[in-house]
Amino acid sequence: MESLKELFRIGNGPSSSHTMGPKKITEEFLKRNNGLDYVEVTLYGSLALTGKGHLTDKVISDVLGDIKHKISFDIKTKVKHPNTMDLKGFIGKKEVAKMRAYSVGGGAIEIEGEKAIVKKDVYELSTFDEISKYCKDHDMRLYEYVDMCEPEIEDYLKEVIKVMCDAVERGLSKEGTLPGKLQVKRKAAVIYRQSPSTLMERYYKNTLAYAYAVSEENASGGLIVTAPTCGACGVIPSVIYGLKKQNKYTEQELLDALKTAGLIGNLLKTNASISGAVAGCQAEVGSACSMGAALIAEINKKKINTIANAAEIALEHHLGLTCDPVLGYVQVPCISRNAVAAVRCFSAYTLATYVEDVPPVISFDEICQIMLATGKDLSNKYRETSGGGLATLKKNIIQRLNQVNLEK
Ligand code: SF4
Repeated sequence: MESLKELFRIGNGPSSSHTMGPKKITEEFLKRNNGLDYVEVTLYGSLALTGKGHLTDKVISDVLGDIKHKISFDIKTKVKHPNTMDLKGFIGKKEVAKMRAYSVGGGAIEIEGEKAIVKKDVYELSTFDEISKYCKDHDMRLYEYVDMCEPEIEDYLKEVIKVMCDAVERGLSKEGTLPGKLQVKRKAAVIYRQSPSTLMERYYKNTLAYAYAVSEENASGGLIVTAPTCGACGVIPSVIYGLKKQNKYTEQELLDALKTAGLIGNLLKTNASISGAVAGCQAEVGSACSMGAALIAEINKKKINTIANAAEIALEHHLGLTCDPVLGYVQVPCISRNAVAAVRCFSAYTLATYVEDVPPVISFDEICQIMLATGKDLSNKYRETSGGGLATLKKNIIQRLNQVNLEK
């Protein structure tokens, strides 16, 4: 498995596969081809169907800058990867360069005809069973396995936590409307200002507000961390920020818990998927919830079996979750979905602690396989194409959102 740096990427939203990936592809194309006068870009599959809402064309345009260009959305041509992009470069009228590339999830890219840029495996073991056996045999915790595999990761993770917490605070301080046709009002600050009557309500309210804050930052192109993707970037920061505010845990404990969450995310990325276009929202928000549940179990110093149980329960109860963003914007249902998943991290953790330290009935490796198989069975309509589910309500949703917004 790759470094956690490849999982927790710091960058601008709103989408790792539809914004960060295409941006990187365009930059790579320009790096390889100097002095172009004109560039033609064609987006296929999910990039064509939801690229407008995800601001894919805007980010490509920004990279191309002064170079004349045309960006087309081809929703008819069948392609082998759901996030396919063609680029052609011209000097004068002569085509001098072309490239087909894929945005393969979490901001990573592959270029056709070239071996996938395989980053060195920094984690030799790649299943939970292998890693947990190794840790048990060597009396190690999961985060110590991360330390062993990439001893230099800690400074990077400090920056990750900082960017996550800054995004919570920026999001809580902003009001107004998110970019795009849906005209969704920001709600993080509104939720945060509520005065709940019980401690339990306050905990729920804060967890929801923190997740809204980061997801709203993501939806408006703010700086966030893919955890494991942009669309699901609100879950882990909500959990981390909430734990930090409790003043009960040291910085080191937060870092160690994030390492374990990263290990879970890496296993999901390697053995299943973290891409909504490949396996639906269960792969994005479901994976984030699984990572968050493991994070809470780690910071509470639970044994490996309990951490595995927490991560498994969180993912199990997202199985089948479709990706159906209305008009392709990473807003409805994405933002509230992050918030609900943040709360569910604690539910999954709590449930796991009722049967402490027994091997899971369903292992974490098994749930990874089941999530991937379920994702492959999902109709294309439910894999980031805005062709099914909530996305089919687009006109009604816009009307209803306007009513809600006016009432606020
Ligand atoms: S529905 Fe889920 S997977 Fe799809 S764009 Fe929104 S957050 Fe990402």
